[in-house]
Amino acid sequence: MNKSIIAAAFAAIVCMSCSENRENPLLVESKLPYGAVAFDKIQSTDYMPAFEEGLRQLKANIDAAAACTDAPTFENTIEPLESCDMLLGNVGRVFYNLMETDADDIMHETEEKAIPIENEANSYVFMNEAIFKRIKELYDNIDNIGLTVEQKEVLKKYYRRFVTGGALLNEQEKARFVEIQNRMGELRIKFANNNLDESNAYVLNVTDINRLKGLPQDQLEAAAARAKDKGLEGWAFNVQKPCWIPFLQFCQDRDLREQMYKAYYSRGNNNNEFDNKAIIKETLQLRLELANLLGYETFADLMLEDRMAKTPQAAYDLLMEIWKYAVPQAKRERDEMQKIIDAEGGKFKLAAWDWWYYAEKLRKQKYDLDESQLMPYFSLDNVRKGSFMVAETLFGIKFKKVDNLPVYNPSVETWECLDADGSHLAYFYTDCFVRATKRQGAWMTNFTGQYNYAGQNQRPTIVNVCNFSVPTDTLPCLLSIDDTRTVFHEFGHALHGMLTQCHYPTVSGTATPNDYVEMCSQIMEHWAIEPSIMKQYAFHYKTGEPIPDNLIEKMQNAGHFNTGFETVELVGAALLDMEYHMLKDYSDFDDQKFEDAISAKLGMIPEIEYRYRGTFFNHIFNNDYCAGYYSYLWAEVLDCDAFQCFKEEGLLNKETGMRYRRNILEKGSSDDLMKLYRQFRGSNPKTEAMLRNRGLIN
Ligand SMILES: [Zn+2]
Repeated sequence: MNKSIIAAAFAAIVCMSCSENRENPLLVESKLPYGAVAFDKIQSTDYMPAFEEGLRQLKANIDAAAACTDAPTFENTIEPLESCDMLLGNVGRVFYNLMETDADDIMHETEEKAIPIENEANSYVFMNEAIFKRIKELYDNIDNIGLTVEQKEVLKKYYRRFVTGGALLNEQEKARFVEIQNRMGELRIKFANNNLDESNAYVLNVTDINRLKGLPQDQLEAAAARAKDKGLEGWAFNVQKPCWIPFLQFCQDRDLREQMYKAYYSRGNNNNEFDNKAIIKETLQLRLELANLLGYETFADLMLEDRMAKTPQAAYDLLMEIWKYAVPQAKRERDEMQKIIDAEGGKFKLAAWDWWYYAEKLRKQKYDLDESQLMPYFSLDNVRKGSFMVAETLFGIKFKKVDNLPVYNPSVETWECLDADGSHLAYFYTDCFVRATKRQGAWMTNFTGQYNYAGQNQRPTIVNVCNFSVPTDTLPCLLSIDDTRTVFHEFGHALHGMLTQCHYPTVSGTATPNDYVEMCSQIMEHWAIEPSIMKQYAFHYKTGEPIPDNLIEKMQNAGHFNTGFETVELVGAALLDMEYHMLKDYSDFDDQKFEDAISAKLGMIPEIEYRYRGTFFNHIFNNDYCAGYYSYLWAEVLDCDAFQCFKEEGLLNKETGMRYRRNILEKGSSDDLMKLYRQFRGSNPKTEAMLRNRGLIN
């Protein structure tokens, strides 16, 4: 029977069986412990009325706060803003979580109607002039009104949010501000579509199998199916990574490699209808105009003000510090590969399209590691036990399996996170296995937020979602090393959410800038692959034997493979992004000349490209990572330096762990982030540990 008919029939029965007065579980307080979500009671038709009621309540709350005639205080101005979206936020958290993991047709329909509600709610708050006037009065006296450190941070965030939304502009400027934003929105979509269309349009069609020597069988089969799909003879290849990378790694035909390489790197730069160069120039000009309107010298200054780095120069300096070690390492890797070419009698100089091919040969020679040998030691159960063991030892907490909480899917598991004295800290849900309704990837979010003000103390409910293979009767879920790191990574975000002890949602838990938030997740990955820790959790799922030393050694060697290349392409892209947004005039801007000049200035080697060239740099021209691509590296410096502290004081040293918990995990962004870091580490972060971790220094 048709699935949607069953669903419709089922929905009808449910409706008949309940009275007219059935309570919408999203509109009443949860009767479950600690406000856990009553997933067993929620029906898909409950969301829309809850969104509508949430918007109504938000407007009423904002109207009341704006109408207040008492002199503004934190309590009568900011606290109402923190709670104005209490219902809307709760509904949204449940709804959007489930949209990613377990949605049905009704929810998909609801989503389209919910987006305008969210937008309306946002502008209702942040366009409110009466409220802004009160915030400004507080902000202008921020140091003289007896605020706590956390309250100051919250106030600063609201003030900035209003100001960067145009609250201080005059009418004429406001009109231009809106015009710029609308145009930037159009350009963003155009940029993304050009990218997508040009990538989709490209096909390399090969009809002579001899030219495909070296390619693995699965790649050939996929390519044959792709050709058939397109009505072509032979084999078809595209520039999507799952096809493009193996092609460059394995195809022996150098000319074909060159074609594929160039097709990828020239996207958006072919002077055809998909060309993005003019879009880039206009976008950069508008971003600068916007920044200038708001009183900033460059767009990068505007974007970095509320990040941990604070200034473009700080981010730039850090990137250059890494760059200086990455380029020589990449040159050494290049020379090693040239030796292979020479030994094979190939009379040519390694070119950019040869890198993957010879790197693969080098990998086989030096670091060959068969993942299937490792996986039996990394069952999901053991990996999870390992991650719990690390957190319990370091942070003095306990995880207890609970089975009295309703879940949205039978494969979801639930835990309670308890403090050392047995008090409740958080609920932790895990949703680990792949299913048709779930989006790809892995992530952490929360179902209930955390706050503690105005007499209300709410602890969070956190969820980790992954896409691992479903265990069978004979085989448990076995993880690759990447997947193992993912478990620890997402669990790191979860700890950041669960252990938070802030007062206000705006700064609580993972509500921290991009260049900071990944420290708390990435640091956990270090424990995942530390030999002495693996010995405590990586047991063979059949024999129970701990992982042998020779496998650990191989893993560690492989970790330093090709890191010069990877660092150069990554740091190069981050530097390019920063350079794009640090200019003060774009009138003579020519994208290709600009990129060439930056490459010359940086001493980029011709055998490597930036991971993204401007014309297909989606992160910065179609996403919020503009002047922010450095964040990945900044956070990596932090996580390596923070982990170095554990290496110095003991990998499972509880004192160090508690210092990390009190200063980092509990604090969200309730204080200056560099200050918090220093309180944990005793000094500013240094790049050494990160450089060593990437094998760039000894
Ligand atoms: Zn992450």
